[in-house]
Amino acid sequence: KEFYKYCVDKIGSEDKSIEIYLQTCMPVSLEEGVLALDVPTPFGEDQIRARYLDKMKRLFAETGFGSDIKLVVSSENQNLQPHRERVETPRRADEGASKNGLNPNYVFSTFVVGKSNRLPHAASLAVAESPGNTYNPFFIWGKVGLGKTHLMHAIGHHIAVANPITKMLYVSAEKFTNDLISAIRNGSSDGFRTRYRDLDVLMVDDVQFIAGKEQTQEEFFNTFNTLHNAKKQIIISADKPPKDIEGIADRLVSRFEWGLVTDIQPPDLETRVAILQKKAELKNYMNIPEDVIMFIAQNIPSNIRELEGSLNRIVACSDLNHEPINIENASIWLKDLIKEHPTGAVTIGLIQQLTAEAFGFSVEELLSKKRTADLALARQAAMYVARMKTNEPLIQIAYAFNKKDHTVVIYACNKIAELIKTDLRIRSFVDNIVNKL
Ligand code: ADP
Ligand code: MG
Repeated sequence: KEFYKYCVDKIGSEDKSIEIYLQTCMPVSLEEGVLALDVPTPFGEDQIRARYLDKMKRLFAETGFGSDIKLVVSSENQNLQPHRERVETPRRADEGASKNGLNPNYVFSTFVVGKSNRLPHAASLAVAESPGNTYNPFFIWGKVGLGKTHLMHAIGHHIAVANPITKMLYVSAEKFTNDLISAIRNGSSDGFRTRYRDLDVLMVDDVQFIAGKEQTQEEFFNTFNTLHNAKKQIIISADKPPKDIEGIADRLVSRFEWGLVTDIQPPDLETRVAILQKKAELKNYMNIPEDVIMFIAQNIPSNIRELEGSLNRIVACSDLNHEPINIENASIWLKDLIKEHPTGAVTIGLIQQLTAEAFGFSVEELLSKKRTADLALARQAAMYVARMKTNEPLIQIAYAFNKKDHTVVIYACNKIAELIKTDLRIRSFVDNIVNKL
């Protein structure tokens, strides 16, 4: 992974476009000097092979870790990828980026990829690389604040840079509706139609807004058909999957499902931490202690906009009050955003109690430094359950077991995960604890 960062830095500083590709790849294994890189799309693989692979191999050889790199396309995405042509996409620096009503910060390189958004992100890249030829329409749904608009704008920027003459329009469904209303009022329906139909790419954000609005749906239906027939790219977002949006005509729902429907889920803890780190870096927020990042990630679980807002707020509060950024202050500044733990929530303490009981120890023994095999196993089982059943960060779990290092928890989780596959005794202990929770 270190080599990998090194590689992105080295090549990335000379050629910005590689960042987009490399940031979506993941090093997956290093065996006999061969590094395997997981590439989300066949197109990405083509690009890397054609433009960067030789250079990466040279850099890799310099590290002394090995000499060869192979690219693999992740199987989770592979099935979704139709064959695509090899296309060279000449790129210029972020030029022209803020035209089109697109937010210049919403680009692929600022979008953090994790388990919760890996698929929509990979699919967005594919659409951006080859608009009209992959998933059409491309439909992203998810709750508010999870990155739908960010991804749509990122697609827009990518297309605009690769092909500046693309005719592209990004609108909220609300704007589409208002435009239609004023076109009707002013008798300028033709102008409206030209504006929405003479396009290569149409993006409509938050399409749930047109629910229950029949005339808007009728017009959108016709717009959709015209564009789709001409193989123009349509990108749509909503807060629910097409079928679940009440008040949308069936014929529209079925069209929304023609292409790819993909969802963005709330990010897991690691992704939240990564997003906070990325935002801190982008905003040049220095000196935000790691435990404060953890604290925010842990307490703001389900909305990335709030996550970002929290970060901005603690920086602002610290500046204004001349107070240091630490957990204590952060918990005061973010009080209204931090959701109280619901009563009866699963805590590490409860897990420790139940584990001690199940294995026939006291909690003191479980947390002691004693190292008999059974005690060690019980501790590991408790860490494993804590990892599965609470949202506590690894380091917090480690602390709760009087360990200073989160890798102890990772080790424990891997070990128990392996054990329960074959060892029925351990499996029933773990099941027992989980059931009691
Ligand atoms: P939505 O449209 O789903 O309501 P947005 O796209 O407006 O959400 O995202 C809300 C905020 O969170 C934006 O500032 C966006 O940059 C940020 N954000 C969302 N997902 C990510 C991500 N994966 N990486 C970085 N920032 C993200
Ligand atoms: Mg949005």
